[in-house]
Amino acid sequence: MSELVRPGDFCPNSECDDYGKLQSEDQTNIIKFGKTKAGRQRHKCKTCNRTFVETTGTIFYGRRTPEDEIINTLTLIAEDSRISSLARAKGHKDETIIDWIRAAGQHAERVEEVLLAEHKIKRGQLDGLWAYVRNKGEKKTTPKPQRPASSGALP
Ligand SMILES: [Zn+2]
Repeated sequence: MSELVRPGDFCPNSECDDYGKLQSEDQTNIIKFGKTKAGRQRHKCKTCNRTFVETTGTIFYGRRTPEDEIINTLTLIAEDSRISSLARAKGHKDETIIDWIRAAGQHAERVEEVLLAEHKIKRGQLDGLWAYVRNKGEKKTTPKPQRPASSGALP
């Protein structure tokens, strides 16, 4: 198992000289910088002076939907719920949920950590989610005739 890197262990600004460098005795560009209104730890990079929160660089960053709601939805998908019925039940758009799933695939390690640690999801459920994410994510590599966006219907 590789060690999980937490936000706050490195600068997420790709233009920064210290971008992605893990903090150590010699590498101390990241300092704690108060908390957000939602109570999330905020960090600041002394090299580029950017501030960022725990969620920077994760699927939750910059989304209006609360982290819990995204995780809860992903958990239900891992438990075999259909996107269309989830969207109806929760009042999200199908595309929004698909977007979360795609993002989850890109940040799989972090999502897995959160799901396993805080949401008591089982390993098998998680495998189901990733299988799902992979299927969805590979769609764009197989050329398909574009459906008109107005249809809104998913299989
Ligand atoms: Zn920086």
